Amino acid sequence: MTEQQEIRFKGLGVSEGVVIGQVLRMHDTTEHVYHWRIEPSDLEAECRRFRAAVDLAKQQVIGIKQQAEVRLGKEHAYIFDAHLLMLEDEKLTSDIEKEITDKKANAEWAVKVVGDRLLSLYSEIKDEYLRERGSDIEDVMQRLIMALGGGDEERPPLSEDAVIVSQDLLPSAVAELDLEHARALATDTGGWTSHTAILARGIGIPAVVGLRDFYRRAKTGDRIIVDSSRNEVILHPSITTIQDYRSRRVVGSRGPEANHPGQDTPVTTLDGVEVTLRANVELPSEFEGVAKYGARGVGLFRSEFLLSRRGVVGSEEQQRTAYEGIAKIAGDDGVIIRLFDLGGENVREVSHELEKNPALGLRAIRFGLLNEDIMRTQVRAILQAAKKGRLKIVLPMITDSSDVKRARAIIEEEASALAKIGGELERVSVGAMIEVPSAVLMADSIAEVVDFFELGTNDLVQYTLAVDRGSDEVSDWFRTLHPAVLRSIDTSLKAARQAGIPAIVCGEMASTPAYAVLLLGLGVTELSMTPSAIPRVRATVTEIDTRDARLIAEQCLLCTTADEVENLVRERFAQLWCALFPAAALPAIRPTN
Ligand code: PEP
Ligand code: MG
Repeated sequence: MTEQQEIRFKGLGVSEGVVIGQVLRMHDTTEHVYHWRIEPSDLEAECRRFRAAVDLAKQQVIGIKQQAEVRLGKEHAYIFDAHLLMLEDEKLTSDIEKEITDKKANAEWAVKVVGDRLLSLYSEIKDEYLRERGSDIEDVMQRLIMALGGGDEERPPLSEDAVIVSQDLLPSAVAELDLEHARALATDTGGWTSHTAILARGIGIPAVVGLRDFYRRAKTGDRIIVDSSRNEVILHPSITTIQDYRSRRVVGSRGPEANHPGQDTPVTTLDGVEVTLRANVELPSEFEGVAKYGARGVGLFRSEFLLSRRGVVGSEEQQRTAYEGIAKIAGDDGVIIRLFDLGGENVREVSHELEKNPALGLRAIRFGLLNEDIMRTQVRAILQAAKKGRLKIVLPMITDSSDVKRARAIIEEEASALAKIGGELERVSVGAMIEVPSAVLMADSIAEVVDFFELGTNDLVQYTLAVDRGSDEVSDWFRTLHPAVLRSIDTSLKAARQAGIPAIVCGEMASTPAYAVLLLGLGVTELSMTPSAIPRVRATVTEIDTRDARLIAEQCLLCTTADEVENLVRERFAQLWCALFPAAALPAIRPTN
């Protein structure tokens, strides 16, 4: 076999480290299928590639059907006959080939276009049973698209050196993965605050996102190097490159080591302000990081990660066990459980409706209020688990106090129903996530009806600046230090202070030392972050005086652009704390600056 050409792909390194491993492709949805033009001379070859994919998909379906007959019985295996019929349907395959030749499009794109057309026809069918068959079409189209990429739908067990390669890794897919054995992540889309990035940092594995066209080019089993420090992945690295990496670079281990000095003592700034550092957690594999890095409990438990890939919500009992488990780990410092932040980029399968604009659609608290049974089950599980540990509830994506009141009414109803059968319950505090502009503008009235605020800066940046946090194409506009964001944080903090309630910042901003200093300057004393970030934030916080930070933060609030804020931060931080903040730890200089 001839050696394949080494190819380098540029992206954005969002979780540190270098790993040499093997590609394991994982698909999520057909949504990120890309279009590229096929030269007229290559159209026949593209159609042959498509026909080969159809054959491969058929073989897969036959194999799955046989397994299903054994595991589930013949009566359940029949659905795969429908899939086979579709793959054998000449009208469907010739429509796809026609799309390839007429539009000079790649086969993946043609499959998606024809599939979407068919799906929209099905969605209009009145008969519910037939309409439901739309999901079979999706399934078959997905299988074809995967077959075009080498066809590895059946997720093999992770090898020791598996690098997960995906277009976009949804939390629902991650929940199903045995990430304990994944060595690194590489995705086509994503930015610093996308959930893939947050997760990778959480479990301490290297990740490069925003690789655009990489998924299509990689096949399961290919050799790969993920180098986050260089913002790149190398496919089919040559022997020389591998040797070079082995001799020259530290090839990644899992996450930074814990046991940093002083991790059990309170975190206090030079002027004596005590700062509480808590952990954000998603997956059970991150639970151990809470104690390991000396977090004061869990400031944000992203509970939607308890859902399975297909969006199946665990039973009340299963959820209760999970909440009790995390409460036990957090001990007296407690856990803030966020009610399912479903919809949007999280767990799309639950609603199954393809929304035109999911970030603005039926998500978070709205999803809960319209799917009360799911919300009530979760609330009951939390209230019951709160008998055994310190738990609080935070409501995601609140837009105003009416959202809070509706959610609180449900929580209270469930609490009194449980009290009737099982005796008095602990009162569970309820907070609001402040992460959309309307919540900032209405923060004073929201503060009247909650026990605490949590500032979700990831979404706050996204919605304030109208920039998709998961898109690599607009990542230049994702400016955490934009004065509009800083002013929003300031307004929210003032409302919390006025109402006498605590405010925790739990977005990724909290885990970046330079940003954390600005937050302290704005008056924040509680930060919640990926556990592995705690040592470096602790080391920074203990070396600064909040009076200096306040002066800088006040100047930042007067700036008019993100560039102005970043310039100011670079200049003032270098003057005051040059040892703490070398240039690489400060916002990078942009070409437009
Ligand atoms: C946020 O939006 O900042 C946040 C903490 O929540 P998530 O990243 O899960 O949206
Ligand atoms: Mg959020």
